[in-house]
Amino acid sequence: MQKLSRIDFIILHHSLTPNGRHDTISDVRRWHVNERGWDHIGYHFVIELDGTIQQGVSTGLQGYHCKGYNHKSLGICLIGTDEFSIEQWRALKRLLESLLEIDEVTGAAVVAHVDLIDPDPKRTCPGFDVTQYIADGCRPVIKNVLDGAPPQGKAYAPPILEPSQEELAELGRSVWAIARLIEKFINTYKEP
Ligand SMILES: [Zn+2]
Repeated sequence: MQKLSRIDFIILHHSLTPNGRHDTISDVRRWHVNERGWDHIGYHFVIELDGTIQQGVSTGLQGYHCKGYNHKSLGICLIGTDEFSIEQWRALKRLLESLLEIDEVTGAAVVAHVDLIDPDPKRTCPGFDVTQYIADGCRPVIKNVLDGAPPQGKAYAPPILEPSQEELAELGRSVWAIARLIEKFINTYKEP
């Protein structure tokens, strides 16, 4: 275990597990410790499917999540591949806002893992465009919102989503296209 000396980056990751599967921080820890032989889980935070933010390795210690950057970054992992629940998107925004309020973290850049490694078309971690996500004020990236029923047993309120500026441009600002987009989400996430 090594101490974290400074935090210049907050690096976003995905677990690369099937979208919508309820893997937990315990599963991630098992993969890292039992299967890879690390002395602790690689990430500082894991955001589970129901939006629960789990603390992994202490934020005072280096994680194992991005070669060359572990000594100066925090690692956050979203469970899934490229579709995340509304609860996960909300949790990620809340977590980033909370972290960036901390003096030692305020100046950190929020970046995608994939942007810090050698280009490899097979790797897309964390499965969405982080630069665009930050530019849009950390709103859910509509094409990366999980389809299907919300996690069972959780109180659920339909999300109020607005298309991003990019999506508005793509849609040609058609009122009907936007209405369909929003309707899709309300229908997707209505209570079973
Ligand atoms: Zn990653």
